[in-house]
Formats: sequence, structure tokens, C-alpha cells
Amino acid sequence: MAKLNESCSFCGRPKNEINLLIAGLSGNICDACVEQAHLIVQESEMPSKRHREKFNLSKQEIPRPMEIKKFLDQYVIGQDDAKRYLSVSVYNHYKRLMQKPAVDDVEIEKSNIIMVGPTGTGKTLLAKTIARLLKVPFTIVDATVLTEAGYVGEDIESILTRLLQVADYNVESAQRGIVFIDEIDKIARKSDNPSITRDVSGEGVQQGLLKLLEGSIVNVPPQGGRKHPEQKLIAVDTKDILFICGGAFDGIEKKIAQRLRVQVVGYTASKEKHLIDRENLLQYIGPQDLKSFGLIPEIIGRLPILTYLNPLDRETLRNILTEPKNSIIKQYIKIFAMDDVVLTFDNEVLDYIVDKAIEFKLGARGLRSITEEIMIDPMFHFPSTGEKRLHITLEYAKEKVERSNSKRLNVA
Ligand code: ADP
Repeated sequence: MAKLNESCSFCGRPKNEINLLIAGLSGNICDACVEQAHLIVQESEMPSKRHREKFNLSKQEIPRPMEIKKFLDQYVIGQDDAKRYLSVSVYNHYKRLMQKPAVDDVEIEKSNIIMVGPTGTGKTLLAKTIARLLKVPFTIVDATVLTEAGYVGEDIESILTRLLQVADYNVESAQRGIVFIDEIDKIARKSDNPSITRDVSGEGVQQGLLKLLEGSIVNVPPQGGRKHPEQKLIAVDTKDILFICGGAFDGIEKKIAQRLRVQVVGYTASKEKHLIDRENLLQYIGPQDLKSFGLIPEIIGRLPILTYLNPLDRETLRNILTEPKNSIIKQYIKIFAMDDVVLTFDNEVLDYIVDKAIEFKLGARGLRSITEEIMIDPMFHFPSTGEKRLHITLEYAKEKVERSNSKRLNVA
């Protein structure tokens, strides 16, 4: 065997088989191994390079709030207030990221957002849509899976695992990202109701979340789930991460009504009462209502931008069916077009789908399942029949929906 100083410590080849052998303090390396090592280094740098290109920010490229809103308008119907708030805070988030170290002592602070609105009104859709044009890593997490350490569920830090994954584990990039936390209302303290045992953990989770929202260095398990003693943790600074929270806050209207009545009585009661739109109390939501609902004041303080989503009325539902770029009806037309079938609907069919969604109290989510009930048979038959046209009439739609309803009733 060749002596140590006469062979490559990496591949083991002896000096006489090597062009060039470079001597180190406690080993040698041959020219072939140097080249191979160089390749490895290059490859390992690639993801972060790719990353820098993907998430590079320059002022000209950053979409202005109006452009962001216009983009959202293509996919999300209505919800103008929420769209405005979102557009501005995403734009300001970019500005914060571009600010130079403060020479004038003015530091733009981050403004996390909370969106309150009934389920199925477009909170997640807004978040997902905005993600399409973002130039920073973005992820959606569900607050219901989070529990305090020691309980079954996921550690709060796992919220950041998802962000790290999206950022190809580039910590610097993840530290500038945006996280959408869905169902934030599910971690509210339920102290009014002694029978609910999640009380304590709800508040515990909020305390944990607070750490993330206010900006601190958090040790994140790279694979998520529970932290294991043997797992290597990654330190992530949350100072520049923008958090957008969403929740239905079922029943919060009652708290708003209570508060409004109290105020109204104190002032010119009869005049102000008229101004209140009782059908949509959410538009008057204030931070104090979130507190009455069970969010701790510290969390509310860290979510300074509070906005709401409107319930979907008949007209909005009808628009949702056909207007968005990715609307349900456009999707079915595309499915059939892929088999060269031209699909058309009577207008009454679309109104009928909306009526049924309202009747079943399913909101926008119902539009899809009702349309699916109508379309399932033709989707089964048409690819084999070779027919090239399909027109859905009201009569046909009614028959399909009623038949599947009665089937369900018979089973029940
Ligand atoms: P949530 O408010 O519970 O997060 P989602 O955003 O998940 O509701 O909405 C469920 C589905 O309903 C969406 O995928 C979308 O198809 C439809 N939808 C809801 N609201 C709207 C809206 N304002 N504009 C367009 N589609 C909507």
C-alpha cells in the first residue's frame, strides 16, 4: 500500500497514477478529486442561486397595490375591502424588505393582517391568488393542527417548516416570506364554555403563536411535526415574515351587535341605529370583538390590520359560477373541450345551481358539488359516445340534482 504522503487521501490512488498531487496538513488530494469536489460545490450552490433569481426584489418589478387588486379581481369576486387591505399590506411588506438600515431612525414596522369572514367566502382563495404573483416564499398553514408542546398535534414552529420547504431551505429567503394561517379562530380561548376542554391549549397555542408574530428567533424542525431530540433544528428569525390570518369566527356577529347596541344607546340612538346594516354586521368588526371572541390581546395587538369578507349573496354566487378566470363553469367547458365536445348551458341552469347552493346553505363551495351532480353522467358517457355537442337544460339539471338528493334521503 502506498504511503500516506504518496497517495490521494480521497480516492486512494497512488502518486504514480496521478497527474498532480496537492499536499495538505494531514492529507493529500489529487487533481481529479479537486475537479470532482469543485462540481459538488457548484451543485450545492445552485438552489440558492436559483432562489435569488426567483425571489429577487427590484423596485420596478414590485406590483403596486392597484395592480395587485386588479390581479385579484380576475379570480375573486367582490370582497373589495379585503382585497384593498391585502394589496396594501403586501406592497408595504415589499417596501419593508427593501428598506436600507435606518439612517433616519424611521423603521417601517410590519403589519400582519387578520381577515374575518364566513366560511367559503374566499379567504383562502384570496391568499392563494395573491401567492401567484408574489416574489417571496408563501405558504398556507392550518391553525387547527397546532397544539401546545406535549399535546397530540404539531408544534407551532412547524408553521415555519412549510415556509422553509417552499424556500428550498434557504433560511434568508424564508425569513422574508409570507405565511397564511387559516382557521385562526379555532385556537380562541373558550372560557365562556366550561364544557370545552381545549380551553387551556387554545390559549397556550396563542402564546406560542405570539412569539412567531412579534418577531423572534425560532428553532424550526426541518421536517415538521414534533421536535425530536435527535433532529437538527434550523434557526429562523421571524422579524420580517408577514403573517396573514383568516378565520370564520362563527357567532362573532353577536359580540359585534352587543357592542354596537351599547354604543348606540350612549349616543344619538335613533339616528345611529338606522345606519347599522344588520344583515352584515361583520363590516363593523373591531379588535375588541376579537377579544370577546377569545383571542388574547397580545395576539390582537400583533395583527394590526383587521379586515372582513362579505357573505356571498345570490348575485355574487351567480358571478362566481361564470366570471372568474378559473370559474367552475369554465373548468367544465374545458374538461369537455379536451374530448372535442362543445358544452353549453341554459341560463336557467346557472340560476338553478345558485338557488340550490343557497337552499343547501353551502355557499360557494356548494356550487361545485351541485354542478358535479349535474355533470357526472355526461362526464361518464360522452368520452365513449363520440357526440360533439352537449347542451344542459333546466329540466335535465333538475332531474339530476333531485335524483341524487332522493338517493341520499333514501339512504338516510
Ligand atoms: P374560505 O373563506 O373558507 O377560506 P375559500 O376561499 O376556500 O373559503 O372558498 C371556497 C371556494 O369557493 C373557492 O375555492 C372558490 O371556488 C369559491 N369562492 C369563494 N368565495 C369566492 C369569491 N369571492 N370569488 C370567487 N370564488 C369564490
